[in-house]
Amino acid sequence: MSRRNRKEPLFEPGLIPAPGGLLDWRDAQHFDRWQMRPCVLCDKPTPMRSHHGEPVHKACAEDWIAANPTEARLGRFASDIQPKRRRDDDHA
Ligand SMILES: [Zn+2]
Repeated sequence: MSRRNRKEPLFEPGLIPAPGGLLDWRDAQHFDRWQMRPCVLCDKPTPMRSHHGEPVHKACAEDWIAANPTEARLGRFASDIQPKRRRDDDHA
């Protein structure tokens, strides 16, 4: 996929969890129902994808964030965007 740029996510990431925290990957785009690929971290097949399209288990990504807190701040793995809070919207 030549259009795939490492710095350009496939879809928009949200917050990066604190080390030891959990990723919120509810978006269906994290799940590739066509293809299992080896996880970039543990090498076992996974249908899960990061926002950047890296095949990775959610649990492996969470472990990686805990083990690499500094690099994690660069945004390799992030949670999905949270829905906006109501109280911020009604400010006309
Ligand atoms: Zn894995």
